[in-house]
Amino acid sequence: MQKVRLGRSGLVVPRNGFGALPIQRIPMEDAVWLIRRALDGGMYYFDTARFYTDSEEKLGVALEGRRHDVIISTKTGATTVEGFWKDLETSLRLLKTDYIDLYQFHNLPFCPRVPAAGNDKEAEQSVRLYEAMLEAQRQGKVLHIGITNHRQRVAIEAIESGLYETLQYPFSYLATEADINIVERCLKAGMGFICMKGLSGGLITHSAAAYAWLAQYEVAPIWGIQKESELDEWLSYQNNPPVLTDEMRAQIEKDRRELCGEFCRGCGYCQPCTVGIQIQDCNRMSLFLQRAPHSVYVTEEWRKEMDKIDLCLNCDLCKSRCPYGLDIPNLLVKNKADFDRVWNCL
Ligand code: SF4
Ligand code: SF4
Repeated sequence: MQKVRLGRSGLVVPRNGFGALPIQRIPMEDAVWLIRRALDGGMYYFDTARFYTDSEEKLGVALEGRRHDVIISTKTGATTVEGFWKDLETSLRLLKTDYIDLYQFHNLPFCPRVPAAGNDKEAEQSVRLYEAMLEAQRQGKVLHIGITNHRQRVAIEAIESGLYETLQYPFSYLATEADINIVERCLKAGMGFICMKGLSGGLITHSAAAYAWLAQYEVAPIWGIQKESELDEWLSYQNNPPVLTDEMRAQIEKDRRELCGEFCRGCGYCQPCTVGIQIQDCNRMSLFLQRAPHSVYVTEEWRKEMDKIDLCLNCDLCKSRCPYGLDIPNLLVKNKADFDRVWNCL
C-alpha cells in the first residue's frame, strides 16, 4: 500500500483516503457496511465535515471500537468563535471520540489569522477563530490544524502564513499551472497536501489514470465513495497501484482538451439557488452529455430540472459564492441549450 506523509503534521495516510461526503446519500446501514469494509481493506484515513449532514454520525457508528486504528479529519465552516466550539463539540459527539486527528477550517472566504487589509472587524474575527483552534489543540481535542479551500488566494495565504500543517485543495489531472504551483509551494513549506476532487466532481471517469497522475506528487487524495463498486475500484489499487502508461497519458491529454477551462466542478458552494435550480448538476449537463450515454440524462426528471433554468432571476447570488468565478447564469443557459438540442433529436 502506498502511503503519504502529511508534511510536518507527521500523519502518514494511505494514498487512498476515504472521502465521506457521499455517504450522506445512503442509509446508515449501508454506510456503516461500506466504511468498515474500507477499513478492513486498508483505507484507514477518513475525511468528513460538519457540513456533510449525517456523515460524521455514520462514521462514528461504523468506527466505534476502532478509533485507534484510524485517522479522522473533519472540518468546521464556522466564522465565529461560538460557532467553532459548537461545531467541534458536535463533531466529537457524533464521531464518538474525544479528539480529531486533523481539524480543518472549511472553505472560508478568508484565511484565519491572516488579517484582511483595511477591514479591522474581519481581521479581528480571523485572529479569534485561529486562537480558538489553538485552544482546542491545547485541550487535546484537536491534534493537528489544517485548512481546506477552493480559492487560490486563500490557499496561498494559508501557505504563506506558516500556521497550517495541511492544505486541502482541488487537484486532479485537469489542474492548471497555478494549481500545480500551489501544490509545489505547499510541499516546499512543509505542509501536507490533501487532494479533493481527484475525479473533478465525476467528470474524470478513468480512476486509474487519476490515481497514477496524482501519484507523481507527494499528495494524499481522498476519493468520495458511495457505492461498493467504487470502493472495490480504490481498494484494488491498494496492492496494485496504477502507474502512468502511454495509453493513460493519451487519455489525460484528451480529457484536458475537452474539459479544461471554464467548467463547473460540481462543488455546490453556489447553492442554494434563489429559485431552486440544481446548479451543480445542471451546469455540467453539456459535459455529462459528452461523456456518458445520453439515456442516463435525457429523462423526464432531468427535463424538469433543466426547465427550472428558465426561472433564473439573474440575482447573481450564486456568482458571488462560486470560488471559480464562473458566470453561472450564462453557463446555465448554454447547458440548457445543449440539453434541448439532444432532447429534440430523440
Ligand atoms: S442568478 Fe439564477 S441561478 Fe443564480 S442564484 Fe440567482 S436565480 Fe439562481
Ligand atoms: S457553479 Fe461554481 S460553485 Fe457552483 S457547483 Fe459549479 S464550480 Fe461549484
